[in-house]
Amino acid sequence: MRFSNAVAVVTGGGSGIGRATAIRLAQEGAAVVLVGRTAAKLEETAQAIERLGGAGRAEVFAADVTKREQVEAVAEYIRRRHGDLHVLVNNAGISTHTKWLELTEQEWDDVQQVNMKSVFLVSQTLAPLMIEGAKRERVNRAIVNVASLSGHQAGAHIPHYSAAKAGVISLTKSLALELAPHGIRVNSVSPGFVETPLTERGLQNERFVKAIERNTALRRVGTPEEIANVIAFLASAEASYMTGSDVLVDGGWLIT
Ligand code: NAP
Repeated sequence: MRFSNAVAVVTGGGSGIGRATAIRLAQEGAAVVLVGRTAAKLEETAQAIERLGGAGRAEVFAADVTKREQVEAVAEYIRRRHGDLHVLVNNAGISTHTKWLELTEQEWDDVQQVNMKSVFLVSQTLAPLMIEGAKRERVNRAIVNVASLSGHQAGAHIPHYSAAKAGVISLTKSLALELAPHGIRVNSVSPGFVETPLTERGLQNERFVKAIERNTALRRVGTPEEIANVIAFLASAEASYMTGSDVLVDGGWLIT
């Protein structure tokens, strides 16, 4: 129960890694505000949390994390409903698979906006809630950004995604430095290949899966829960001396 009495926000909480993270935080006592564009997906996660029947609970707030007014509405909701924020997981992300010479400007912009600009927008808008809370009560407060293995190395036909995720890893370090005096830790996690709606199409291709298995020391793709475990650790007081770090959770891809 590392998140008893904690209020948490998980962006992209309606599916994949965000869903598993929200469930994990709620399992350990958090009140989790699920943010994403599709209310139905967020509701499904909220119902899964309700079915757990534990101390944790979930609330749904449909918003686009690339739109300042919508992110401000999330902040206003949390201020009114909870008056505090302890954990922020910037997890929302998208990608496309396009050759460099065919990559459109729109594709480039969309991927930068959802993966990287959202970290700026959401962290800047919600951090004041965390800072005000820290002045009242010096308890564990943390931001965890979901970057990617792709932020560490080039991947075929995802130059825009790799650049955005490298940006997230860099932004994590700058934010960690700026927010440390306020008692807020900021770290990122870089997943390797994980079975989620984002990778669903690629993972239907048997040759692609075999190639991943060959190139991964643990010889398999990861599960959303295996990433959620690390996010929960970084968000918890157990990681109290960690800030500005990026943790690779890639099954040993980079060492292979
Ligand atoms: P996913 O299931 O597609 O989750 C992404 C979530 O982000 C969706 O729930 C989506 O919901 C939300 N989202 C997208 N655009 C949004 C926006 N503008 N505003 C608010 N929410 C938005 O994929 P996932 O694999 O769990 O991805 C989670 C994170 O892990 C991403 O940052 C991804 O880049 C990263 N990652 C994944 C892998 C992998 O192998 N799966 C590997 C490395 C990193 P809506 O569409 O309803 O808004």
